[in-house]
Amino acid sequence: MASDAELVQIVDAAVAEATRRAGAALACKSGCTHCCIGPFAVTERDLARLREGFAAVGDERMAARFREAREVMREGFPGDWESGGVTDLGAADLFDLAHPWLPCPVLDLETGACGLHAWRPVACRLHGPALRIDGVDLRHCRLNYVGMDGAEVEGLRVSVETPEVEESTLTYIAWAVRNGD
Ligand code: SF4
Repeated sequence: MASDAELVQIVDAAVAEATRRAGAALACKSGCTHCCIGPFAVTERDLARLREGFAAVGDERMAARFREAREVMREGFPGDWESGGVTDLGAADLFDLAHPWLPCPVLDLETGACGLHAWRPVACRLHGPALRIDGVDLRHCRLNYVGMDGAEVEGLRVSVETPEVEESTLTYIAWAVRNGD
């Protein structure tokens, strides 16, 4: 069973290789918030990492953003709102689609930078380039590979096998930090 650090290292290495292969065809950069608006499910393992990051660089302003995001997500939450645990994946997808305007509580709304970039969830790390994870092609960001046809993108795709890690329930980034509430 691999550790979270090993999983992140393997994912980051694959993304780095995909970035190298794509070169200028990859538009991902700090300040682009395309994948940071709208909620999406992450793992409890991701939350543990985000908590480490918050302990290192978080502040009251960021804590308030977590609180605000949770309040927005209270109505119709697809699981147990108190714990943040998702119980129905189909309902979670619909819930995400119903909140396309809600920014991630970690996103710096002025600069567009991720406030906990080094500790960000695996889903955030994977978004953007053309990757094949455990045999499944991920949909790349539509802002990347502009003007290329499918075959060209396939030529740049990077395959990676992820190690087995401890099972982790699904939840949302907004539950990573709870300062007494
Ligand atoms: S954790 Fe960072 S990279 Fe992920 S959605 Fe939030 S701001 Fe974006």
